[in-house]
Amino acid sequence: MGSGLLDLGTAQHGLLHLLPAMPVEPVSVDDALGRYCAEPVMAQRTQPPADLSAMDGFAVAGDGPWTIVGESRCGAPFAGELAPNEATFVSTGAVMPGGADAVLIKENAEVEGRNLSATTPPASGRHIRREGFDFRSGDEILPAGARIGAAELALLLGGGCRTMVTARKPQLAIFETGDELLIDPKGDATSAIPASNGAMLAAMCAGEPCIARRHAPLPDRLDDIASALQAANEADLVVISGGASVGDHDLVRPALERIGAKIAFWKVAMKPGKPLMVATRGSQVILGLPGNPVSSFVTGMLFMLPAVRRLCGSANPMPVKLPVFAAEDLPPVGTRMEFLRGTIDADGGRPLLQQDSSGLGALAQANCLIERPAGCAGVKAGTVVPVYLLGNG
Ligand code: AMP
Ligand code: MG
Repeated sequence: MGSGLLDLGTAQHGLLHLLPAMPVEPVSVDDALGRYCAEPVMAQRTQPPADLSAMDGFAVAGDGPWTIVGESRCGAPFAGELAPNEATFVSTGAVMPGGADAVLIKENAEVEGRNLSATTPPASGRHIRREGFDFRSGDEILPAGARIGAAELALLLGGGCRTMVTARKPQLAIFETGDELLIDPKGDATSAIPASNGAMLAAMCAGEPCIARRHAPLPDRLDDIASALQAANEADLVVISGGASVGDHDLVRPALERIGAKIAFWKVAMKPGKPLMVATRGSQVILGLPGNPVSSFVTGMLFMLPAVRRLCGSANPMPVKLPVFAAEDLPPVGTRMEFLRGTIDADGGRPLLQQDSSGLGALAQANCLIERPAGCAGVKAGTVVPVYLLGNG
């Protein structure tokens, strides 16, 4: 790499590698939203449980015309067996009566009393959902590491699963450091600013099944930082923003050394976010994020969230990257990979003018980060570039 900094992918995988496996617990499917399967999930039933009609109309046996002999409704199947040229009314999702070989859809049917004929003859097997086409009892319906979203929740319920096994919710301790940080600075003091990173980082974790505890801002004092970190020994993951750089008042590294934590790596070839630090204390992982709010956000997205997701049991903890056209020419890149705050519209992605790593306004305005590889020449508008979409929590 030449710059002596770790490249992003190596650093991300290095971090994931350090994380311990969480103990697992059974949870009711009712409480499973947002959690991750700790083991593959098998269907407890077959879906559909029988051949079902896919349309409203008539279940028919033979070529017709037919005599209507009854009805098959959802929850109330036809009890008998159809003889050739017999038919029943059938609803979408109702069980096909025995002997029926097709569904004549309502739109193609002519009915007079109990007599049924077709304007367009039904093809044999048409509009029938075959037993077990979705899944059969014993099939794996979700792999280990899958996240339970709305569709997966429906799949679990449809599969007859009432509980699943998942990682215990990891505990996260979130700290922010800086003598200038106050929760609510009064008046026009120029020596103080509102602490915002802690709340932002906690908000970024809100969608994950973890227990994030946010602590009051810490002063730039070695004793205070060390004792706060010491006291957070129960947390599975500690995140501390600010004080991770090389200034005289950047005390996170000495504080980590004081409590006996081992620095795994420090400084990544990325912009913003270079001073990122990863340390371990026993099985606990400690993430030092840069204090500049945009740097904190970007490293939160690329390091903290993957770490949280991995602890929660995700098989795919990295944020999703998509190819998008550059809507304008993009400048060449230096020795660090860049993440440009940008916007995506119908023309593609374009960087915002303001790219300062402290700019909260531009961060909130951005709906994507445009990834630019280190050492890359400038590219023309229309080139496909990777982007991360931002929901901004
Ligand atoms: P540091 O990483 O401690 O050198 O901080 C870099 C810059 O980010 C400084 O301008 C800090 O005032 C600002 N900063 C650090 N921590 C926070 C925070 N928790 N909330 C808002 N701004 C912060
Ligand atoms: Mg500071």
